[in-house]
Amino acid sequence: DDWMGAAGMPARFAGPVPALAKRQGHKYSHGHALVLGGGPGQGGAARLTARAALRVGAGLVTLVCPPDALAENAARLDAVMLRSIADHGGLVRMLDDPRINALGLGPGLGLARAQQLVLAALALGRPALLDADALTAFAGAPESLFAALHPQVVLTPHGGEFARLFPDLAQRLAEPADTGPAWSRLDAAREAAGQAGCVVLLKGPDTVIAAPGGGARIAAAVGEAAAPWLATAGAGDVLSGIVTGLLARGFPPLEAAATGAWLHAEAARDFGPGLIAEDLPERIPKVLRGLG
Ligand code: AMP
Ligand code: MG
Repeated sequence: DDWMGAAGMPARFAGPVPALAKRQGHKYSHGHALVLGGGPGQGGAARLTARAALRVGAGLVTLVCPPDALAENAARLDAVMLRSIADHGGLVRMLDDPRINALGLGPGLGLARAQQLVLAALALGRPALLDADALTAFAGAPESLFAALHPQVVLTPHGGEFARLFPDLAQRLAEPADTGPAWSRLDAAREAAGQAGCVVLLKGPDTVIAAPGGGARIAAAVGEAAAPWLATAGAGDVLSGIVTGLLARGFPPLEAAATGAWLHAEAARDFGPGLIAEDLPERIPKVLRGLG
């Protein structure tokens, strides 16, 4: 049976998830994730995302970048495959392949063509993660993004990205309540998920996750809050790759987000100050080995 809870994870993460390794699997049955980003001088973010997607067990990961960043990305990749596209038409043609199981949109994407690319990708209805520039590109016009989002999508904003998409919710979160109990980050994520119509993972020292149907999770490593040394450049890009990889493996969006946040914090567990983002993907196999 491919569906089981992952033993070893705290009970609040114990939603039904696919087995992490299928005995009869081949690379395509372990999922193909496509990461869109990695423009000139910003490839590191997308390469971290792609590597984390592989490390969480996606069978294939393709990084899709603009033509003028191809050489620089190619010099830094081995197991990750690399393609380039000139515009959103090229992306749509590439996504004609039904064996692409999930999309990770945004790391190092740049803002110039991000709206068109993201909307073209979302129109296909595939499981997708949106982070970084895929969120910031819609700062002035979140309604155009919300109209395109669907329940297979996970958004992973940090506080600043959240405030650009949901300014009213961010303001309410920042203000002390005049009457009644103060609004929590989980309240804000729940409201955002309802407005966006997809899963929202609000990052920070206390990461919270909410789905439009009312499902919600509070993420923390086992027995402790997430490690503060996760506040380092590129850590969010690794989380994006973990969630994208789990989506490619067939995890439902809320489970991909919650399991991903937990794996991300667990991967940081044995480190202290001086952790860098590159360390995190390399620790994931050890965390996965500890799961039933
Ligand atoms: P980003 O800002 O996109 O690089 O994402 C930062 C990552 O680090 C997210 O996964 C956050 O949840 C995590 N993070 C940031 N600050 C802290 C903190 N003080 N303690 C624990 N985790 C943090
Ligand atoms: Mg980020």
